[in-house]
Amino acid sequence: MRAAKALALAFVCFSAIVCVSLFLTSGASPALVDFIGSSWAQSAQPADTGDAPSSPDPARPEAAPGASLPSFVAQPHALSQSEPNEPPSEDPEGTTSPPDSPAAAPAADPTTTGSVSTGTDGSSKARKISIKVEPIPGMEPPKEPVWPKFVGAKALFGKAKVPAPMEARSIGSYSRGCLAGAVPLPIDGPAWQEMRLSRNRNWGNPKLIALIERFAKDAQKLDGWPGLLVGDIAQPRGGPMITGHASHQIGLDADFWLTPMPNYRLSRKERETKEAASMLDSTGLKVDPKVFTSKQVALIKRAASYPEVERIFVHPAIKKALCEVAGTDRAWLGKVRPWFGHYYHFHMRIKCPDGATACAPQVPPTGDDGCGKEVTQWLAKVVPAKEGPPSTPRPPGPPRAPSVPIMLSDLPKECQAVLASGPDAVEIPKTALLTHIEVKKALAKAAAVNLALYKASAAKGANAASAETLAKSPALRPHLHKSATADPK
Ligand SMILES: [Zn+2]
Repeated sequence: MRAAKALALAFVCFSAIVCVSLFLTSGASPALVDFIGSSWAQSAQPADTGDAPSSPDPARPEAAPGASLPSFVAQPHALSQSEPNEPPSEDPEGTTSPPDSPAAAPAADPTTTGSVSTGTDGSSKARKISIKVEPIPGMEPPKEPVWPKFVGAKALFGKAKVPAPMEARSIGSYSRGCLAGAVPLPIDGPAWQEMRLSRNRNWGNPKLIALIERFAKDAQKLDGWPGLLVGDIAQPRGGPMITGHASHQIGLDADFWLTPMPNYRLSRKERETKEAASMLDSTGLKVDPKVFTSKQVALIKRAASYPEVERIFVHPAIKKALCEVAGTDRAWLGKVRPWFGHYYHFHMRIKCPDGATACAPQVPPTGDDGCGKEVTQWLAKVVPAKEGPPSTPRPPGPPRAPSVPIMLSDLPKECQAVLASGPDAVEIPKTALLTHIEVKKALAKAAAVNLALYKASAAKGANAASAETLAKSPALRPHLHKSATADPK
């Protein structure tokens, strides 16, 4: 009986959107009130509302770890994130970044109509207020855990269409920062073509953009590379991205395909759909010498040759191949670091520009070529996926709270000014200003409610419990009629 009561209470809480009081009374920020109700009609898990391609994108395998990798390639989980040789700040892609919540997703609130009937004499000392809540077709009391939604930094920076009209500055760190005064890499140049134009990620610090142009021309002229296919650089105002990449936030990172540029200008459609070739053989443990040739070696070596370039990230098998062919000139290898993914493309990162006081530098590479223990350890983690039956979905268990997204408060304060600058400013809702701890607390509260719901449901059997709850809770019936006598004052 107690379990049924708890279940009923939880259902009522969610359906009537009175969870607000739960959060308010527990000391959470009042700002939560603004959006807590929107969780009613949203799915249980944070939805990725980004423009991620629906099909696997080989050009950016990190965009959907695990899902987009061919079966012969080691899955990201095979490469532990707790790799001692790599501090988390070095994580160049999206493998440690939790999915973000949708930005200001419109709340699909039940249609509420109110009528006020006054006394026949026209007085309004007491009015009977009738509130009718129309059902949303197909909507039932939640069977899944419901979580409060938050406007994370990804959603805000993903909205920026143009750069902040400010002096060019890289602000913060590679994986927690933003970019003012970005400039675009032209989508076509004498020695490059920008790919995936729909993403609008061809923006960078002017220093990086100038280097990319130089690199493309050098590789073409000096190394016989036909031209660069350029992947993601940064968003117009930098910041975290809705899909892929933990870094690329301050306009000092860029991805380049290891596939040579064709000798014609790609159409916009081709730039969206053309697939990059994996450099690995069918084992996923070695490069394929038919695809990964001296041309790719020369290209990566060229990128590493610039003093501004501090790190280059490649798949461990590519690093191993570079180690084997480098010969006696090995100093550049120290900049080339093994990392998750990166078998279709490589990632170039430049140092904080001189005098960029707001830019948080990384520890420079030690100078060791990394061809000994480091690459061996990485390769040991690359375990080819075994052929086997498709994995079965995880059985339902106690609800687990989603990760706290990167909040605006996790970035340097100046990033708010970057968003808010210019006529094309990105509006910052109050709910985006919640701190990491506030969000965490709210999720913990919701987790407690969800757990109670789950336990009650498990105890009684979901169907029976639902029926009982519905019977006892008029608020959960499809048509809710509420009458109240309100004092008009
Ligand atoms: Zn990258």
